[in-house]
Amino acid sequence: MRRINIAIDGFSSCGKSTLARQLAQHLGYTYIDSGAMYRAVALYAMEHGLVKDGVLDRDGLLERLGGLDIRFKHDPLTDRSATMLNGRDVEHRIRSMDVSDHVTLVSPVPEVRAKLVQLQQRMGREKGVVMDGRDIGTVVFPDAEVKLFMTARPEVRALRRYQELRAKGAPVTLAEVEDNIRRRDLDDTTRKADPLTQAADAIGIDNSDLTALEQFNLALGHVVKVLGEPAEA
Ligand code: C5P
Repeated sequence: MRRINIAIDGFSSCGKSTLARQLAQHLGYTYIDSGAMYRAVALYAMEHGLVKDGVLDRDGLLERLGGLDIRFKHDPLTDRSATMLNGRDVEHRIRSMDVSDHVTLVSPVPEVRAKLVQLQQRMGREKGVVMDGRDIGTVVFPDAEVKLFMTARPEVRALRRYQELRAKGAPVTLAEVEDNIRRRDLDDTTRKADPLTQAADAIGIDNSDLTALEQFNLALGHVVKVLGEPAEA
């Protein structure tokens, strides 16, 4: 069966990664979390003194950008990928609230985007990729065969993310999570470089009132239609 690329974009905490992972597993495709790459750049900036009082030393980051190595390391046992920053596994670290609070300092920087988009495009060259993010259907894979754009009501998203973080033991409040999501949505939709926007040919899915299974079946239906024949289980 021919292989395609699937682009999943949408607002923060919309369940994009859950859906992307399910589709990738079902189809035997590679799941790529592009947000992890922006989070890794933010962590790098934080750890190298490039953020002071909430302000990014942009020139400092640009000087070091060439030496920044971001890749994914697949663990066949768990079938999960860890984000590697200059050879270090930062998968757990980049999910923390302080990285979430700093990521939109680095994601609007055009040079950062150019570097990451190039890496992402390389990963999708052979097809068979499900990638989630903010600009996948518009910039990274404008020719993706299936494009999904996810939304959910803000209060639903905040509660989901809050429960996810608490389950991991993170000491966050619902108000902090709501605030972070609201700010990132605003930053991501209003930045000049590759803002979050629905591609003209993307299918919108509002999953506020859908279970993960309902959402998966809906998305898979679109994929199967494009593939022209039922996807293998
Ligand atoms: O997907 P996630 O919430 O982990 O993404 C973190 C941040 O990375 C987003 O809020 C956004 O600023 C940035 N991002 C981006 N483009 C992408 C993926 C993520 O700008 N394709």
